[in-house]
Amino acid sequence: MIQKDVDLQPFNTMTIAARAKYFCAATTREELREALAFAREQQLPILPLGGGSNIVLTGDFPGLALHVGLQGLDFEPQSDGVRMRAAAGENWHQLVMRSVEMGHGGLENLALIPGNIGAAPIQNIGAYGVELKDTFEELTAMEVATGRLVTFTAEDCRFAYRDSVFKNTEKDRYIICEVVLKLSASWQPQVAYPALQQHFAQASQEVDALTPADVARAVIGIRNSKLPNPVEIPNAGSFFKNPVVDASLYSRLKEQNPQLVAFAAGEHWKLAAGWLIDQAGWRGFQKDGVGVHDRQALVLVNPGHRCGSQVVALAQDIALDIQQKFGVTLEPEPRFYP
Ligand code: FAD
Ligand code: NAP
Repeated sequence: MIQKDVDLQPFNTMTIAARAKYFCAATTREELREALAFAREQQLPILPLGGGSNIVLTGDFPGLALHVGLQGLDFEPQSDGVRMRAAAGENWHQLVMRSVEMGHGGLENLALIPGNIGAAPIQNIGAYGVELKDTFEELTAMEVATGRLVTFTAEDCRFAYRDSVFKNTEKDRYIICEVVLKLSASWQPQVAYPALQQHFAQASQEVDALTPADVARAVIGIRNSKLPNPVEIPNAGSFFKNPVVDASLYSRLKEQNPQLVAFAAGEHWKLAAGWLIDQAGWRGFQKDGVGVHDRQALVLVNPGHRCGSQVVALAQDIALDIQQKFGVTLEPEPRFYP
């Protein structure tokens, strides 16, 4: 059912108050197809919504906000692992925990990422050295222009670091309906990230003996210790992407800042944006109800439930400061609407 003039505050984890001209919560593919037909007739832009944990509403949305609530989860055992078929509206973390409880490995490093499975391919979600693409098999999406169903293989999705075809050539052209993942029986724990290494070293746990549940527990514990729960402190996760810079800029920065946190990425270097923001003195900053989280400077917070323009103004101040202090350009990770 299409509703008019709906408040989107409950549908974004930044809790920004903004209104959608039209809103529809689609729970079946038929409802989704009808909503898309309505938007076509009315020539409305579409804002697909999952958990709203990677968007910033900069004002009222003059089109159709479409909550994709398709449900369904199916595990298909195979000789070399298990295939998981999940509808777009399934909650990501619950899906991870279901797989872990069943003893399947592959998703445990991605525990506690907010949002729904339908958005996971958009930026190829990743954490602690694991990305969606590592287990991804295919997805089914509905073409916005026609309502036709299309299958995308991993190759079609052109997954990259926090990136996919859905942020580039196919941006705004599809609504993801279902995702199929393949969890391999020959699972190995991925615990090379320093926080995980430290955790297991302190707990005197042998890496070879770890189960997917052990890794999921560790990831959940680490995340809870430094990242704000959006239900308590409104936020949209990492506000900026980690910038990837060339070797000459990296060398200059490393010389000037021996503590610089950076990781080789082919011929380039990935800088920890959170370290740069922290170093520039922004961690814990608060002004007029918006601020920077005190345990992870990459996360902007909105405890005052302020409007998108105030969040964006803070982000711009930070980006300008980082440009001036380090000569590094920061780009936002969440998508801004409208
Ligand atoms: P939304 O915010 O609702 O949507 C995100 C984008 O996808 C929007 O452009 C939206 O229009 C589009 N979209 C949503 N659903 C569909 C669909 N079915 N079809 C087509 N387009 C769609 N991300 C990581 O990668 N790694 C992390 O570790 C991580 N940690 C986070 C921690 C916190 C505390 C928070 C708040 C966020 C974090 N994120 C992380 C970001 C975010 O959780 C992910 O990007 C997540 O996949 C977004 O899911 P969502 O359902 O909330 O998407
Ligand atoms: P962290 O462990 O403090 O690490 C800081 C940064 O260093 C991260 O951004 C991470 O890059 C990078 N890093 C650390 N070890 C690395 C290694 N061995 N190789 C390559 N890069 C390495 O980070 P955190 O803030 O607590 O987050 C932990 C994980 O959760 C990270 O993977 C992060 O991406 C993810 N996360 C994402 C979001 C989001 O909204 N996108 C929010 C919270 C957490 P990467 O970010 O590339 O992994």
